[in-house]
Amino acid sequence: MIETKGYAAQSVAEELTPWTFERREVGPHDVQFDILFCGVCHSDLHQIKNDWFPGIFPMVPGHEIVGRVIKVGDHVKKFKVGDLAGTGCMVDSCQECENCKKDLEQYCLEGSTQTYNGLERDGKTPTYGGYSNTIVVREEFVLHVSEKLNLAAVAPLLCAGITTYSPLRHWKVGKGHKLAVLGLGGLGHMAVKFGVAFGADVTVLSTSPKKEEDARKLGAHNFVVTTDEAQVKAAMGTFDFILDTVSAEHDFNMYLSLLRTDGTLICVGVPPKPAEIAAFSLLGGRKSIGGSGIGGIAETQEMLDFCAENDIVSDIEMIDMKDIQTAYDRMEKGDVRYRFVIDMATL
Ligand SMILES: [Zn+2]
Ligand SMILES: [Zn+2]
Repeated sequence: MIETKGYAAQSVAEELTPWTFERREVGPHDVQFDILFCGVCHSDLHQIKNDWFPGIFPMVPGHEIVGRVIKVGDHVKKFKVGDLAGTGCMVDSCQECENCKKDLEQYCLEGSTQTYNGLERDGKTPTYGGYSNTIVVREEFVLHVSEKLNLAAVAPLLCAGITTYSPLRHWKVGKGHKLAVLGLGGLGHMAVKFGVAFGADVTVLSTSPKKEEDARKLGAHNFVVTTDEAQVKAAMGTFDFILDTVSAEHDFNMYLSLLRTDGTLICVGVPPKPAEIAAFSLLGGRKSIGGSGIGGIAETQEMLDFCAENDIVSDIEMIDMKDIQTAYDRMEKGDVRYRFVIDMATL
């Protein structure tokens, strides 16, 4: 086994502390890479707190992982020692179901294996995430990362990036479309960058007027303060798509009223409680609500390649591993522009 250093929550809602654990030896189809940077996703905090479902503890969070390959199995073809590598929210799936065969491993009918707070395919070995010094992942779930980009700023692409790229591609958002991005956080700031890169006319919808300057710097063409009645009224019936990145409770009916006829609201945020949606909000204008979860491995590679070609990365604040709790506190207040990334050299 490979002795691994990391930071873990020993039980639910506990602060993270240093912890040593074991990862499996590199198998014939595995890639081992040393972790250089790991992004801090809001879902790390949700999972430590059991917000969504009972977690597996000790828990080593982190699913925005980049680093350099130090060992490959005998049958590995796509990677060699010294390559940059990345891993996102999943490390395995059944590889055989209808969805896996369509490159939609994130929707594996048997359930994909989450990078942490999950169980390997054996159904009993816990997975541990990227707040650690090294990781072993089967080759199919390791991504190539370009040497051209700032590596630390690439890390958040593995979750925040693909979570926003995939729905924009699926719904073919681009030239001639008016896209509204609801919420300007880790997901929202990536959605703005991709929406602009795909040629859409991008508006940021936010409760905070203070974010307008940032939104425009990120490339947004317009900004609507959603607590300002006059601005909301002027925006009614104007958008083809709303990409909803908000994880707090909000009024879907109000946002649906901002869509044009045949418009679609796409959920990628995860509010804690189910929303109330009036049928009239949908049938008056033949509107739709959809949802999307991360992206498949092939599409994640496509996204990383697109980012390398178009010089797109996340806007980040680098932190030391020991400061993770402060980062969580600030993240809960929305005080981060726009993603914390842990420098794993500080582990
Ligand atoms: Zn995430
Ligand atoms: Zn499957």
